[in-house]
Amino acid sequence: MAVDAPQHTGLGAPLDYRSERVLLPGTLVRVPLGRREVPGIVWDTGSGEPAPGELREVSLALDVLAPLGEPWRGLVDFTAAYYQRGTGEVALSVLPPELRKLDNAQLTSRIAKLRKALAKGDASMAMASPAPPPAPPALTAAQAGALAQIEALTATGRSATALLHGVTGSGKTEVYLGAAAQALAAGRQALVLVPEINLTPQLEARFRERFAGRHIVSMHSGLTPAQRLRSWLAAHLGLADLVLGTRLAVFASMPRLGLIVVDEEHDPSYKQQEGARYSARDLAVYRGKLEAITVVLGSATPSLESWQRCLEGRYVRLDLPARIGDGALPRVRLVDMTQQPKGRGANTALSAPLVVALRERIARGEQSLVFLNRRGYAPVLHCADCGWKSACPHCSAWRVFHKLDRTLRCHHCGFTERVPHACPECGNLDIAPLGRGTERLEEQLAEVLKDADGKPPRIARIDADSTRLKGALEARLGAMHAGDVDVLVGTQMVTKGHDFRRVTLVAAVNPDTSLFSSDFRAPERLFALLMQAGGRAGRDAAHAERSEMWVQTWHPRHALYAALRSHDFEAFAAAQLKEREMAGLPPYSHLAILRADARTPEAARAFLQAAAELAATLPGADAVMLYPPVPMGVARVADVERMQMLIESASRVALQRLLAQWLPALHTLRRAPTDGTPRILRWAVDVDPLSI
Ligand SMILES: [Zn+2]
Ligand SMILES: [Zn+2]
Repeated sequence: MAVDAPQHTGLGAPLDYRSERVLLPGTLVRVPLGRREVPGIVWDTGSGEPAPGELREVSLALDVLAPLGEPWRGLVDFTAAYYQRGTGEVALSVLPPELRKLDNAQLTSRIAKLRKALAKGDASMAMASPAPPPAPPALTAAQAGALAQIEALTATGRSATALLHGVTGSGKTEVYLGAAAQALAAGRQALVLVPEINLTPQLEARFRERFAGRHIVSMHSGLTPAQRLRSWLAAHLGLADLVLGTRLAVFASMPRLGLIVVDEEHDPSYKQQEGARYSARDLAVYRGKLEAITVVLGSATPSLESWQRCLEGRYVRLDLPARIGDGALPRVRLVDMTQQPKGRGANTALSAPLVVALRERIARGEQSLVFLNRRGYAPVLHCADCGWKSACPHCSAWRVFHKLDRTLRCHHCGFTERVPHACPECGNLDIAPLGRGTERLEEQLAEVLKDADGKPPRIARIDADSTRLKGALEARLGAMHAGDVDVLVGTQMVTKGHDFRRVTLVAAVNPDTSLFSSDFRAPERLFALLMQAGGRAGRDAAHAERSEMWVQTWHPRHALYAALRSHDFEAFAAAQLKEREMAGLPPYSHLAILRADARTPEAARAFLQAAAELAATLPGADAVMLYPPVPMGVARVADVERMQMLIESASRVALQRLLAQWLPALHTLRRAPTDGTPRILRWAVDVDPLSI
C-alpha cells in the first residue's frame, strides 16, 4: 500500500494492510496511519501469507473507480526511486486533491455528471464544436516525411523517442496534430505537454478546431480543484481523447495512451522545483518505454542532453529545416556597444542605430519587440555621496526600484518598502537608480521614439509586474495581435511561443550577462532564448524579407553570437558538447545537488560536511565525486542561509546507488545531529539539477 506519508517520516516504502476483499493493485483506498486516516493506493496484493504482527484494516476502498494502471504505477515507482522520494508521497501528490475527499457515492455521482456533460458537449469541458473539421493544410515535404517516420516508429509496437528539430515557424505544431490524428485513428489517447500555462489556450484552440467531435481536456495549475478532478476523471476513464497540459500532466492516468508529445522540450519549466524535483520531459521518455509507445520531443533549440542522444542513435532525429511558405529567418545584426558613442544617463540602453530601426518600423506600421531580462525600473538605488545601495535586510540581494508605485521590492523574499526621500545613511536627497529594468526601458522608448509632434508610439509592457492581475496578459497579447501596439517591451515572457504576425524587428537590449555565468547551462539557455525571440520576427511571409533581430552586445565576437547570426544550432551544439566533454559535465557526467538551509552559514556547511563524511563510508563512494559545500548564488533569502554541495559521477547507476543508501542516513543525521553539529532548517536533494 502506497500511503501519503512524507519522505522524512521514514515511511517512504509501501506499507502492509489487511483487507477482507481482494483489492486490485491501483485501487484507491483510505487507511489508518497512526491516529489519522490517510489516502493510499494498493501497490501490490502481497503473498497472501500472514505477515508477522497484527496488520490494520483498510478503512475504505474507492472501488467505483477503475484501478490505476500498471504503467502508471511503474512511472510513480521510477519517479520515487530516481528522484529519491517516497512512493506514496509521489503517487498522492500527482493525483487531484479533490479525490481525497470523496467517498464511493460522491464519486459515482461525479462520474455520472461528467458522462452527462460530455454527452451534451458541455463547453466548459472543452468539447470540440460539432461543426465539420476544416481540411488540414497541405503538408510540406519535411512535415510529411516526419509524420511518415512517426507512423513507422509507432507501427513497430515498441517504444521510440523522436526529436523533432524544427526552426521557429517551420510548422512543428502541424506535425503534433498529424501524430495525434494517427493515435486517435488507432483508438488511442494522446498526451501533449507544453512548458507554460500561457501557451495552452493557443494550442488548445488549434487542437479543438482540428479534432472537432473529440473530447479534449487540459491539465494545469490554473484550474480550480473541481475542474482538475473533471479533467483527471475524463482522462482516467478514457473519455478524453486528448490531454493538453503542463508538466504535472505527465502523470495523467490514461488507459489508452498511444502518443506523448513534449513541445519546447528544452524549456526549464519542465523541471519541478520542489518536492520530487522531476523533469517532466525525462519522465515522458520513460513513460514511453513503459507504455511501448512513441514520444515526440520538439524544439528549435533542443536540450544538449536530447541532442546528444540523437547523435548516439538513441533518439530518432526528424528535421524541419525551413520555415513554412519559404519565410526567411530574420537577419541577425549585432550592435557593437564598445563602438557606440558614450551617451549620457539613461539613453545608453538603446543605441542610436537601434532607435533608427525602431522608428522605421513605426513609420511603416510594423511592430517591434524589445526585451530585457530584468523587471522593475532599476535593479538598485544608489547614493553617490556615501555609497549606500538599496540592499535587502533579509537577503544577500539588492531591492529593486519600482517607479510606478514608488517602492523598493526584494524579488527574493518580497520585502517591500516605500522609496526613501533621502539617503537613509547620509541624508543626501539625490539618490539615483543604477542600471535598468523593463519599466525604465518602457519609459526610455516612449521618450526616444516620440514623433514630430512629441507624441510617443503605442507601447505595451509584458512582465511579471504588468501581468499580475487576471486577464492583464491576455489583454496585452490581444492588443498586440490586433495591431494596437507599435512596440512590445518585456522580459523573456514576450519571447515564448506567441505567433505575432506583424513583428519585423526583435531586439535584445542587454543579453551579455549570461555569457560569463558560473552556471554551465547559461550559454545554452541564452542561445535558446535568442533563437526563440528571433523566431517572433517575420512569421508572416509578406514581412519576412525585412525582418531582423538586433542584439546589443559588448562582446560581438563571441562564438555564441556567431552561431546565432548563421542560425546554426548544430554548430553551437557541437561546440558546447565539446566543452562539456572536456570539462566532464552533463551529458557526459551525471549530477545531483544536496542543499541545506539553516539560520547560519556555519550550520548549513557543517551539515553538508557531515553528510559528505557519511557518504565516503558507503560502498561505491569511490565512483562518485563530492565537491566542497558552497553558498548558493543568492546565499541568504528571508534570513535563511543556503548552501549546496555538488555530487558528480560518470555513471548514472553509481550516482543512483549512492543516493539510495545515503539519503535515509541523512534523515537520521538531521534528526539526531552528532556531537555539536548545529541544527539545520531543511535539506533537499535535486537529481539532474538544471541550475547550479
Ligand atoms: Zn548617502
Ligand atoms: Zn529579500
